[in-house]
Amino acid sequence: MSDCIFCKIARQEIPATVVAETELSLAFWDVAPKQPIHILVIPKAHHANVSELASESPNALVDLVQLGSTVAKELSQGSFRLTFNSGSEAGQTVFHAHGHITSVTPKEQVA
Ligand code: AMP
Ligand code: ZN
Repeated sequence: MSDCIFCKIARQEIPATVVAETELSLAFWDVAPKQPIHILVIPKAHHANVSELASESPNALVDLVQLGSTVAKELSQGSFRLTFNSGSEAGQTVFHAHGHITSVTPKEQVA
């Protein structure tokens, strides 16, 4: 059993502000948001980065992107980024694959 922090969130062993989930994926607020909307989407199973997720469980990657898109549409005006840092030199600090959903325009701020 992994002691990785995102595995613990997926197992509900440590708290997170969860916004949506599927059988394979979980979406929750980043603990230190860098945009007005900053959600992380993770596979519930452990994969070290997005490249390994793509090769080891492509269906889980598709599910992650679909869940992220659904959450982004619900929370934002419609424009958003989905980014994956892969490797420490690219800024990855948690070595459990995750996409960052970021947007500058929350839905409730649209006139
Ligand atoms: P990265 O730098 O791409 O690996 O992104 C890791 C992200 O995880 C950072 O934006 C952190 O703020 C976020 N993070 C770290 N620990 C937690 C946590 N316990 N709950 C929510 N987000 C977290
Ligand atoms: Zn993990």
